Amino acid sequence: PEMARRVADLAVDVRDFPQPGIVFKDLTPLFASGPDFAATIDAIVEHYGADSFDVVAGIEARGFMIASAVAYAAGVGVVPVRKVGKLPRKTLRETYALEYGEATLELHTDSFTPGQRVLVVDDVLATGGTAEASLSLVEQAGGVVTGFTVLLELAFLEGRKRLKPRTVHALLTV
Ligand code: 5GP
Repeated sequence: PEMARRVADLAVDVRDFPQPGIVFKDLTPLFASGPDFAATIDAIVEHYGADSFDVVAGIEARGFMIASAVAYAAGVGVVPVRKVGKLPRKTLRETYALEYGEATLELHTDSFTPGQRVLVVDDVLATGGTAEASLSLVEQAGGVVTGFTVLLELAFLEGRKRLKPRTVHALLTV
């Protein structure tokens, strides 16, 4: 509730971004505020417990900022899920549909040791396409998904349904 209020207070609605008709939730003010960013990271680590995951995977690019801080706070490492063409070594790939066109995400094949418990992190859950592809990549790479966490969930897009049976944790659901 306290964290939900902080996210709600600091999120800025940007109309018609990145396309006409879309209201984009801009969370950069939350990242930019020291006390709020710290509270955000602490809330995530507390929710799961620092001993419940072995590594954090962040989804490019805003997910990287959250994942790094969560990993540091928990004393574990961080792994990037990246847009296609950025990772230098052998990768797994997942392509998924966007409203217009498609997108591809990549993960280094050897990102995890078998059975490693992975907490996957992004800033916003919308339709769930990005998360579904990312969680699938983590599982294909031998990771066990401990959870998927976002700062903000847009419930009307029903991304959570798409990720079943995996569970989603959101600091704020609107
Ligand atoms: P999805 O694949 O769930 O439709 O979209 C989620 C991805 O797009 C996430 O990586 C997220 O960063 C980005 N995204 C979609 N909508 C928004 C939004 O309103 N605000 C922000 N900050 N990111 C969004």
